[in-house]
Amino acid sequence: MKSIIITGGNGGIGLACGRAFLSAEVNTHVFLGCREARDDAESLVAEFPSRCEILTLDVTHPDSWQQAVIRVLTVTKRIDVLVNNAGTHKDSLLATMSHEDWHSVIATNLTGTFLGCQAVVRTMLGQKRGRIVNIASLSALLAPAGQANYAAAKAGVIALTKSMAKEVARVGVTVNAVCPGYIRTKALGQNESVILEMAKRVPARRLGTTEEVASAVSYLTSDSASYVTGSILKIDGGIF
Ligand code: NDP
Repeated sequence: MKSIIITGGNGGIGLACGRAFLSAEVNTHVFLGCREARDDAESLVAEFPSRCEILTLDVTHPDSWQQAVIRVLTVTKRIDVLVNNAGTHKDSLLATMSHEDWHSVIATNLTGTFLGCQAVVRTMLGQKRGRIVNIASLSALLAPAGQANYAAAKAGVIALTKSMAKEVARVGVTVNAVCPGYIRTKALGQNESVILEMAKRVPARRLGTTEEVASAVSYLTSDSASYVTGSILKIDGGIF
């Protein structure tokens, strides 16, 4: 049984990753980490009741991670994959950015990823096998105006990924990051004229889908990617 934890399990990309893992192999158990489960996550659990469950998890709290890992190990006795997907953005110009918005965006995107990696690493080292995929963002590379907190957090995720990859490579644990560009999820809003404007800025002339991000995550967690670690994979339709 392959044991998989996905944080941000209510969100568009998290759910697509969960569905991709569950559909690809019957031998998988997916834990959807959620602060509070919403309808979409509940629906995925209802579709795969014996192989998918909600894991109560606030990624910003070490205690929450500890409880979550205890639950996962009780059920599956191992942790094969962690997808650090939970994220949030609170955009504003740096001059007017509140300290609260700075800290909360760093806490969810960067500290949440750190805590997740730390929570599973001992188990993965003991297994001599594990796959971690951190969901960063193209904003880490582009550093757009108005996203100092988010871009810094996601750039931190990239550095964390590369550093950790070097620490654990010799025991068969890989750590990689993906940088999605514009992916169509609720996080981008529903305003169609804004979406069209975004698409015009993409060489591929369209937004990416959550399934396209999930495909990249699936590859990075597969046996085919056993020698891929510390890599940063853009999924951006050619923007950067
Ligand atoms: P969503 O807003 O749909 O999903 C984000 C998820 O993160 C939500 O389920 C949310 O939970 C969860 N979350 C936020 N804070 C916490 C927390 N403290 N603890 C646990 N979960 C939390 O966004 P996407 O699916 O689009 O984003 C997924 C990831 O992809 C994020 O890291 C985002 O930064 C990144 N990304 C997305 C892009 C896009 O274009 N969509 C582009 C580049 C990167 P809740 O439901 O409780 O609010």
